[in-house]
Amino acid sequence: MSKDTGMTFLEETARAAAGMIPEGAVPGEDGLLHCPLCGGAVEYRFSFAGKECKVPCLCACGARRREEERLKEEAEQEAIRIERLRAEGIQDRGIRQWTFESAEDTAAVKAARSYVRQWPEMRRRNVGLLFWGPVGTGKSYAAACIANELIAGGTPVLMTNFSKILNQMGNMYTEERYRYIRSFSNYPLLIIDDLGIERSTEYAKEQVYAVVDERYKSGLPIIVTTNLTIGEIREPRFLADARITSRILELCVPVNVNGPDRRRAKADGKQELMRELLRKE
Ligand SMILES: [Zn+2]
Repeated sequence: MSKDTGMTFLEETARAAAGMIPEGAVPGEDGLLHCPLCGGAVEYRFSFAGKECKVPCLCACGARRREEERLKEEAEQEAIRIERLRAEGIQDRGIRQWTFESAEDTAAVKAARSYVRQWPEMRRRNVGLLFWGPVGTGKSYAAACIANELIAGGTPVLMTNFSKILNQMGNMYTEERYRYIRSFSNYPLLIIDDLGIERSTEYAKEQVYAVVDERYKSGLPIIVTTNLTIGEIREPRFLADARITSRILELCVPVNVNGPDRRRAKADGKQELMRELLRKE
């Protein structure tokens, strides 16, 4: 027993460790300290080695505060995790800004919204999307909206393209390449932006097939964007490409993106601005 406080070592340690006794606690008629806010007991009696001890405990408002702190801590941890998912999953910083909030309501964006809404079902049934259409129609934008929205909800998504993947693979040994391709399975959703296979080398096509086939084998969805037409995907010019495209068609629902050309619209906007400025002269 410590001389100055009259408490046992056990009691002192327990109090110090728990920090549960609130400031201004008042002794009650039961001989226990009580919370000045809610009036609940902040300690309880128990016997230890034949001696009666008092040990701190939480009153109702203390328990509530502790729970709030725990939730706040959890939310902070989750925010850090999501920030990390974003940094890993979408390496192109510009694309991190492509969200539903800033999206026009095109057919592609509608399909993307519906995909996110039904994500648990899409994942369970291994359903992906194939955004196809001409250059500059917002295919990548729609796909990026899906990536950003799912990541914000805590789902790991990797959005990349084959030139990046092939670049990464550049100096890898065969075994490393397999491991690298298998590592995509850590992402419940893989988005391959701008798939163009026609002009690729045999080696590149081999890797494209390996990545797509890995999704197929691991039962995980893939989203692909491409400038190829659905005709070119269904019946590729080179028979050898058919095994890639038929796998993609097995995994993905085709979404035709033929909205107004965003790039041309931007250029038109500029011309409009030019005309306006000229009129002012
Ligand atoms: Zn209290």
